[in-house]
Amino acid sequence: MHAVGIVAAAGSGLRLGAERPKALVPLAGRPLVCWAVDTLRDGGVAEVVVAVPAAELGAFGSVLPPDVRLVVGGATRTASVRAALAAVTDPARPAPDAVLVHDAARPLTPPDVVARVLAALADGAGAVVPVLPVVDTTVTVGDDGVLTGTLARETLRRVQTPQGFGRSALVDAYDRLPAGAELTDDAAVVRAAGIPVTTVAGDERSAKVTVAHDLALAELQVRG
Ligand code: C5P
Repeated sequence: MHAVGIVAAAGSGLRLGAERPKALVPLAGRPLVCWAVDTLRDGGVAEVVVAVPAAELGAFGSVLPPDVRLVVGGATRTASVRAALAAVTDPARPAPDAVLVHDAARPLTPPDVVARVLAALADGAGAVVPVLPVVDTTVTVGDDGVLTGTLARETLRRVQTPQGFGRSALVDAYDRLPAGAELTDDAAVVRAAGIPVTTVAGDERSAKVTVAHDLALAELQVRG
C-alpha cells in the first residue's frame, strides 16, 4: 500500500509558552516535527508532507530532510490539513492509496502505532484511529461548575494520531466540509461525511505535547 503522511505542524507555541511554533521546539535537541516525521517513515509511510506556518517555511526547511515537502498551513488545524491534502493530490504525482494524518505535537508515537493503522487500512478499513481507554471517572459539568452527569467510561476512548484514511474518502470528506469549518481531528471530518471510523490500539507514549509539563515528561521518556 502506498501511503502518504501529512504532519500538521502549523500551530503556535502559545500554550507551551514558546516564542516559536510548537513543532520547532526541541525535544532532546531535535525539533518535535523531526520526531513526528521519523515516526511516520519508520512505521511504513513512503512520503511526508508537512503543513507549517507561512512565516516559518525557511526554519522548517532547514531542520527537515530535503525530500519532505512543505506547504503553508492555515489558521486552524482543519485548514492546515486541507492545504496539505491539496499537495498530496497533486495530479503530477502518483496518487497514494492511503493518507495518514499526524500531529507534530506527538513526537514519541511508536512506529508500531503507524504500522497498526496501515494494517487496518490494508484489511479494508476506510478510516482508522488509534485510541486509548478512559481510566478516570468522567463527568459533564454545567456553566456554574456543578456536575450534571457521569459518562459510562466503558464506552469512552481518547483519540490519538496518526489517523489513517483511504485517500479518496478523505479527499471527498474534506471537499464536502464547509469552508471555514473547524473540527479537532480528521476522523470527525470523515464521520461528518458518513464514513465509519474503526479503531486500533493507541499508545500512552503518543501523548500530545500541549503545555510545558508535557514537554518535561517527554524529555524523561526519551532519557528512558
Ligand atoms: O493545538 P493542538 O496541539 O491541538 O494542535 C494539534 C496539531 O495541529 C499540532 O501539531 C499543531 O501544529 C497543528 N496545527 C496546525 N495548524 C493550525 C493549528 C494547529 O497544523 N492552525
